[in-house]
This record gives sequence, C-alpha cells and structure tokens, in this order.
Amino acid sequence: MLPEMYIRGTQVNYYFICKTKLWLFSHNIAMEKESDDVKVGKLLHKDAFKRDEKEVRIGSIAIDIVRRGDSLEIREIKKSRKMEKAHVYQTLYYLFYLKKLGINAKASITFPKLKESIKLELSEEDERRLEEIIKEIDEIVKNDTMPKPEYRKICRRCAYFEFCFS
Ligand code: SF4
Repeated sequence: MLPEMYIRGTQVNYYFICKTKLWLFSHNIAMEKESDDVKVGKLLHKDAFKRDEKEVRIGSIAIDIVRRGDSLEIREIKKSRKMEKAHVYQTLYYLFYLKKLGINAKASITFPKLKESIKLELSEEDERRLEEIIKEIDEIVKNDTMPKPEYRKICRRCAYFEFCFS
C-alpha cells in the first residue's frame, strides 16, 4: 500500500503544527480527548451543519462534512484561522486522497465562529508538495525515537504538554 493511503488527515495537520505531536499521535499516545479545543471543535460540528453527512470515513481519512450534489463537496470545520496552513494542507490532502480513488471533489474550510469560509482546489503543485509531506510523515512515524519537544507558545494549550515537559 502507498504511504498516502494510510496517512490520516490529522497527521498532515500535525506535521505543520509540531513534529513531536505528530509522532505521539501516530504512536497511539492519544490525549486529545482531554483537550478543550477538541471538545469545542466537536460541538461546532454538531451544531453547524444539520443537513449534511458528517464525519464520513473513507479509508484512513475522516471528513467533517460531505455534501453530495452534481459533484462531491467536502468541508472541514475549524475553530479559528490560527493554524490555517495546517488546516489547508489537511483539506488538500483529502482532495488528493479522493483523487487517488478516482473521485474529484471540491473543498472548503468553514470557520463558523468567524462566519467565514475559504474554498480550495488541488493544484499540480499541491500534489507534488503533498507527496513530499507524506514521505516525511512516513519517515517521522517510522522512527522509534520521538522528535525532541521544543517549547513554543502553542505548547501551553496542547494536550501533550504534561507528556513533553513534566
Ligand atoms: S506540548 Fe509542544 S512540543 Fe509537545 S507535542 Fe504539544 S506542541 Fe509539540
């Protein structure tokens, strides 16, 4: 199986946020349930879009919202634009993954609290970049050693804080 067929969207997201977080998550050291940010994210999902199919799992990916019309439209719901690059690549990865399965889809990221959304299309350059990212994720995850935690402002709100710095 190609690496991209087992990489999860959350791993692509964490690749941009923190390589230590990516490694911990990928090694099933899951503490995300305890994070308030994750709880808020789940509540936003429940309330924001009642008409669409939610949390749709396809292989290793789980898409927040899928709307079936003339073409398939996927949506990711995010709380804020702070980690926008991570959110953009996570969503582009879903388009990339679907394309590998022969499905062409449109995508958007919605920020319900801000009443904003952005539309995304997968370019050839995005595909090349994603191939590189997937290879790097694969290498990080296969390594037996966790990347050394480096303290940054975001660490204070991270579910792995105690794990990294106690
Ligand atoms: S606490 Fe900081 S270094 Fe540790 S996983 Fe979270 S973001 Fe990464």
